[in-house]
Amino acid sequence: MQSLGQMMYAPMLLSSILEQAARHSADVEIVSRRVEGDVHRYTYRDCHARSMQLAQALLARGIQTGERIGTLAWNGYRHMELYYGVSGIGAVCHTINPRLFPEQIAYIINHARDRFVFFDASFAALVEQIAGQCPHVEAWIMLGDETALPGKFAVPLECYESLIAGYSGRFTWPQFDEQQAALLCYTSGTTGNPKGVLYSHRSTTLMAYASALPDVLALSASETVAPVVPMFHVNAWGLPFSATLVGAKLVLPGAKLDGESLSSLFEQEGVTMSAGVPTVWLGFVDYMRRTGRTNGTFRRAIVGGAACPPHLAASLEEIGVKAVHAWGMTELSPLGTVCTPSHSYARKSIDERRLIDVKQGRVVPGIDLKILDPNGDELPWDGKSAGELMTRGHWVVDSYFGTHTSALEDGWFRTGDIATIDADGYMHITDRSKDMIKSGGEWISSIELENIAVSHPEVAQAACIACAHPKWDERPLLIVVAREGSTVTALELLQFYTGKVSKWCVPDDVVFVADLPLTGTGKVQKLMLRQRFKEHFTDFDMRTV
Ligand code: AMP
Repeated sequence: MQSLGQMMYAPMLLSSILEQAARHSADVEIVSRRVEGDVHRYTYRDCHARSMQLAQALLARGIQTGERIGTLAWNGYRHMELYYGVSGIGAVCHTINPRLFPEQIAYIINHARDRFVFFDASFAALVEQIAGQCPHVEAWIMLGDETALPGKFAVPLECYESLIAGYSGRFTWPQFDEQQAALLCYTSGTTGNPKGVLYSHRSTTLMAYASALPDVLALSASETVAPVVPMFHVNAWGLPFSATLVGAKLVLPGAKLDGESLSSLFEQEGVTMSAGVPTVWLGFVDYMRRTGRTNGTFRRAIVGGAACPPHLAASLEEIGVKAVHAWGMTELSPLGTVCTPSHSYARKSIDERRLIDVKQGRVVPGIDLKILDPNGDELPWDGKSAGELMTRGHWVVDSYFGTHTSALEDGWFRTGDIATIDADGYMHITDRSKDMIKSGGEWISSIELENIAVSHPEVAQAACIACAHPKWDERPLLIVVAREGSTVTALELLQFYTGKVSKWCVPDDVVFVADLPLTGTGKVQKLMLRQRFKEHFTDFDMRTV
């Protein structure tokens, strides 16, 4: 006979996270640097009240359960209100990456059938460009007040402050199934069209709880958290939920993510921890080094989205910031692993710890991993055997938005990453499967070669790609952005690899470029580089490697 537990039940809804903060951390601040240029501050109590006003406004405008509302916005308090106000009434907050090509943005808005799109004033030109291609959008709503609205515009516009102004904010959040969709995010679509991942209240709430744990992001009420990772990049890695859950002070940096803007905001607001992609932190440490500015309260940087070069971790440490490496994907909401100490870490030598710290880390409780060989057989966790990384867990995609076919294989999701796992459970990504370089039948890790290149003092950024080679099938080509005023030569860079990797892994050539093409989420667009340099070795003087 079935015997259910006799405990209270309340569905895990995102609205309850904000409601809890409004009751128990009411006066804790949310500070936003606005696109208008000034700094705005209010509290969780205010955020809750305005999210309820928004919920009332959306219901009055006929928004129904499950309908999508798009956002094109930086990290700021109105975006927070959209996260909670939209999902709180059972609709879906669809965060759109404004850095994608306009055609891709229009494709995504149409695919999601967004009824309304809310946008920051700084994206007005983009909206003007795409509005004609998005016939289903009923209202384009600018995040600001009447004064922010442009005089002449291609489509009718509304403004956010007027939309919510007439509502009291006295509202009771509706209760519904925790498996109801809450948020929608599209993958960056480097191969084919972007695919939507539809998060539920339950999956996002569970990730928020797990990510606050000491061995994950170690969030607490005493922290001041600045999500530098944009709220359109997999929900800023869940921080608008996890930081709210613990009642931490939130600092939302808006559009300016350069070293100077971040360091002054961090200092002014006493930021203690932050999260962002390696390119942001490279800019940050570069600025700190150039200006000799000292770091105040900032102690911890979560580095994810792409591999954290060991050299970046060392540069952050020099200014008193611990780099914490994390790995994830849009399909994982996104948190999969975080590099925090295992039970046996304390017994390891300094050198052993150094090797561990560069890995992508151990699973967030609630996530499981395995690695497979090309035959689909599971590989040992010896820290050496590299295979296709598979994952499953409470906040992993099942099927993509708008499809009914499962994205899983025997209940596991194929990540497309190649990784090792060691006996303590530390996962280390050696490459993205499509970025690996196959030379004479042997695999070379592009990440390893890039990490060495960026540890050279005259290299600002580097990407290593596979180029077709008449003798070896593929050979590595290093593409470098040199630091300002640098005179470093290709030969010097190639010699820099001596003793650091096997001779046959050393790139065959170096190309200097002014900048690297980046994706909307700040990752190097290797596909574009591979296309541009695909014939680089065709007539190349073949050397014996
Ligand atoms: P996205 O869904 O756009 O966030 O991209 C997910 C992919 O980014 C992963 O499958 C990895 O290839 C890559 N990625 C994310 N975090 C890391 C990391 N810490 N190290 C290496 N690659 C990463």
